[in-house]
Amino acid sequence: MVQNYQKLNPLLLRKLEGILGKDNLLSSGDPGLTVFARDEISGYGDACFAIPEAVAFPDSEQKIVELVELANRHHFPITPRGGGTGLAGGAVPVFGGLVVSLEKMNRIIEIDPQNLTVTTQPGVIVKTLNDHLAGDGLTFPCFPISQDRCQIGGNVATNAGGGKAVKYGVTGRYVLGMRVVSPTGRVLALGGKLLKNATGYNLIPLVTGSEGTLGIITELTIKVISLPTVRRDFLALFPCDEAALGIVSELLAGTGIVPASIEYIDHLSIKVTERFLGKTLNYRNCGAALIFSFDGYDRQTVDSEYDRAATFVRARGALGVEEGKTPASRERLWMVRKNLADAFHAYSPFQTCEDIVVPPGRMMEVFIRLRRIADEYGVAIPIFGHAGDGNLHPRIVAPADWSAEKWHEIFPKVQKAIFHAAADCGGQISGEHGIGRKRRSQIFLTVPENNLEWMRNIKTVLDPNRIMNPGKIF
Ligand SMILES: Cc1cc2nc3c(=O)[nH]c(=O)nc-3n(C[C@H](O)[C@H](O)[C@H](O)COP(=O)(O)OP(=O)(O)OC[C@H]3O[C@@H](n4cnc5c(N)ncnc54)[C@H](O)[C@@H]3O)c2cc1C
Repeated sequence: MVQNYQKLNPLLLRKLEGILGKDNLLSSGDPGLTVFARDEISGYGDACFAIPEAVAFPDSEQKIVELVELANRHHFPITPRGGGTGLAGGAVPVFGGLVVSLEKMNRIIEIDPQNLTVTTQPGVIVKTLNDHLAGDGLTFPCFPISQDRCQIGGNVATNAGGGKAVKYGVTGRYVLGMRVVSPTGRVLALGGKLLKNATGYNLIPLVTGSEGTLGIITELTIKVISLPTVRRDFLALFPCDEAALGIVSELLAGTGIVPASIEYIDHLSIKVTERFLGKTLNYRNCGAALIFSFDGYDRQTVDSEYDRAATFVRARGALGVEEGKTPASRERLWMVRKNLADAFHAYSPFQTCEDIVVPPGRMMEVFIRLRRIADEYGVAIPIFGHAGDGNLHPRIVAPADWSAEKWHEIFPKVQKAIFHAAADCGGQISGEHGIGRKRRSQIFLTVPENNLEWMRNIKTVLDPNRIMNPGKIF
């Protein structure tokens, strides 16, 4: 659908300034606007880069209501933005208009240890939230690996997963309540400090993961848990990818062991990250690695799970098991996993990260398909990810000496082949990063037309003027 949006002319900019005050608005010509032109997506060039006409930094829900009302009256697009760490182009203002940055809505309103909840504004950085919660012996366990830069509102808007989803699930499981400014400027107060609620349609999961297309989240009530007091991690090295990935579902299905994390890293990811870090790692020559993390409140239980899992992986062919006993050695153990995105950015200008999810028992099947796709198209597809959830991040990496033209010709074909492989294995094209701008032309591959029709209808009813994050998902 072609949209003819109104440009933010001087009159509209004055109106925006009237709502926000001069200090809370960036507008035309300000070099700072380019910061808001992209998220952390790579490999897409101009398709996921667009400089907004203005950026608003509201510090209250009421100001957001006024911005949204103005957008409806004058028909200009609004793009909500959290920490900008998204990997789907969701926060990119593809039609220009106004970016609404939530960074000034960064107050933790109430930590309630009795009800195990935290009520917070959306712009709080997730790590900051957890640092505050730790003071009360609490935690939000479902943080993404980008936790030191992403916002809790962005996590909810993308239904983010993360390293600990095997045991703790994804963000949506923790959202008990929210306030949302709808695309027409109405304020909805959903849920609350309730662990159960069967009163009418449950709208919280509809907004969760809607990637800013169904409104702007202005407040959240999040379920928290007691901060685990015991943690043990180990790195298991394997001779090949098959040996590593092949045991994950067997361990989860057959042993009763529930690690907090099972992260997978393939050989190429290890090599490239080692070179990037300028270190010599003692596991540089292994074929693949799994990182296991165990946590809980009782030393004996955690030790028992740890020991049983370590025995299990050794019996299934692990070449070695290395424990991260101290914070420093644990840091070393996670070093490759935490730095590999930066390592691949440095390795080749032509690379992008995918996010497929398949039933855990079918990971090997999809893995073999991915290796064949790499050979067929002459690219590398290093694979890492949250193996315990069946959520793999194949990275499409072209040789650094390719031309931009060649990259833009080949990579959509590789991406499509990867998505087909996921679909054939009963999976989806995104497990946690979302559809955003990046994957919207491919959503039909795994989402049936009837489902898509419901989604489009919901969008049309709630956002009749199409001002809320247009050009995303569909
Ligand atoms: C190094 C790295 C590691 C990562 N690791 C993980 C991981 O382990 N798991 C994972 O799931 N993701 C991961 N990501 C992706 C990203 O961090 C998550 O998608 C995160 O939830 C995005 O949050 P954000 O605040 O940065 O949102 P943004 O990127 O700013 O926005 C993401 C989407 O949410 C919308 N949005 C943001 N705030 C609001 C709001 N208040 N109301 C309505 N809509 C809003 C935006 O419009 C956009 O569509 C990683 C990214 C990087 C760069």
